[in-house]
Amino acid sequence: MDWLDALPDTRVLRAPDALHDYTHDESHVVGPLPRAVVKPRSAAALRALVHGASSEGFTLVPRGAGSGKAGGCVPSEGAVVVDLSDWPGSIAVNRDDLTLSAPASAWLRDVRAAAERESLWYPPDPNSWPLCSFGGSLATNAGGPNACKYGMTRRWVLSVDALMADGEVHRFGIGSVKQNTGPNLAQLLVGSEGVFGMILGASVALIPQPREHLTVLLPLDDAALLPALPARLFGAGLMPSALEFWDAAVLNDLRTHGPDAARRFPGEALALLEFDDAGCTSSEFIERLMVALGDAAAHAELATGAGQREALWNVRRMTSVHLKQRFPKKVSEDVVVPRSRLPEFFSRMKALAMPSVSYGHLGDGNLHVNLLHAGELEGAALESALEPLFALCIELGGTLSGEHGIGLAKREAFLRHTDPYTVGALRAMKKALDPNGVFNAGKVF
Ligand SMILES: Cc1cc2nc3c(=O)[nH]c(=O)nc-3n(C[C@H](O)[C@H](O)[C@H](O)COP(=O)(O)OP(=O)(O)OC[C@H]3O[C@@H](n4cnc5c(N)ncnc54)[C@H](O)[C@@H]3O)c2cc1C
Repeated sequence: MDWLDALPDTRVLRAPDALHDYTHDESHVVGPLPRAVVKPRSAAALRALVHGASSEGFTLVPRGAGSGKAGGCVPSEGAVVVDLSDWPGSIAVNRDDLTLSAPASAWLRDVRAAAERESLWYPPDPNSWPLCSFGGSLATNAGGPNACKYGMTRRWVLSVDALMADGEVHRFGIGSVKQNTGPNLAQLLVGSEGVFGMILGASVALIPQPREHLTVLLPLDDAALLPALPARLFGAGLMPSALEFWDAAVLNDLRTHGPDAARRFPGEALALLEFDDAGCTSSEFIERLMVALGDAAAHAELATGAGQREALWNVRRMTSVHLKQRFPKKVSEDVVVPRSRLPEFFSRMKALAMPSVSYGHLGDGNLHVNLLHAGELEGAALESALEPLFALCIELGGTLSGEHGIGLAKREAFLRHTDPYTVGALRAMKKALDPNGVFNAGKVF
């Protein structure tokens, strides 16, 4: 027994079987067994944890639901994992302010449902929304299909309650869209992957729920038409709320081994488009869309009912899980390329002959390039397998990660490809906010 067992209001897990569940997330990264897993339920518990970690020199690894894809919640040697699933609090919607507040422990699905019960909407929709925590989605600045039109989590966050290295819980920001009192610490915490502090709750902005949706399944006879699709749509003044794609290899795998709904998917490659503007289901709008799509419109299928729409999105949401089950050693990337450079990206990827398949968020150039067996590689070998992909994206004006973050998985590549001034500034901020490395030391930078 050590002092961790004497923490107030805290469940402490020590059994190796229980700890084993915390050695990994949904990325390829696996860490050692943590020293312990703690599940705090009060500010007194957090205070004691921070002071203990600070004086004994170990790090606290925040963890939501462990659905991350960058190894950010994977422990390092001797770390204590702080599982926030027991953190108390409830979800509250304020209809007058169009805001919602929730604890980090809430499921993102419950946050979205609470807004929808009031005919309101919280747009961030990582495909993991049925299985990730609100806190984790904030800490990773999660994106998703809707980011194409509605941006990422960051855009919706108004204020954040966070445990900082002084052991106290602080509120950064107010629950209002207008606030301009200097640099915004709430926004510093969003997407910080737990390296500056631990998010305990937040308030976010809501908007009225869209009343109409037009969902289009667009099979393409020629996969080479895919990369030009965003330019066709945006060039015609159309703004999809989502524009997703599956390349030929992923589509074939889904068709052969996927769920029933995917078995009938036509085409050599496939896109999934959604519009949610008022009037998007009108015949005028559909005609305009078909003109913009040109020859590609020939096989377009319009999903008109809610059930049809949901079935299509279910296939999109389970694509990552499906591939992981089929290829447990896959390494999943989430690189970004500006939309205008997508044609060049795909043709140069072909020339690189990298053994990869891809799907993802075509509408904002955020591509899930998956190397199906690269998890068998380690250290430098894995880094060099991925380097041509990263180098290409950066050369084209893109970046290493559009939504999963850096964590441990992309730390080396991040350090290699980031302006040293930026890395120095981030390290200086870490030193100022968390001088003893209490929070998620060794991650990101
Ligand atoms: C099938 C599938 C689909 C996915 N699709 C998407 C997608 O479309 N878009 C997307 O952005 N991501 C996606 N992801 C990745 C992941 O689900 C999201 O990043 C999610 O937001 C992580 O939430 P979590 O609760 O599981 O966090 P965890 O995995 O537990 O943690 C993620 C990171 O945040 C830190 N963290 C967690 N909670 C806190 C907290 N309260 N305070 C401070 N730091 C914290 C952790 O230390 C870690 O660095 C997907 C994952 C899966 C498995």
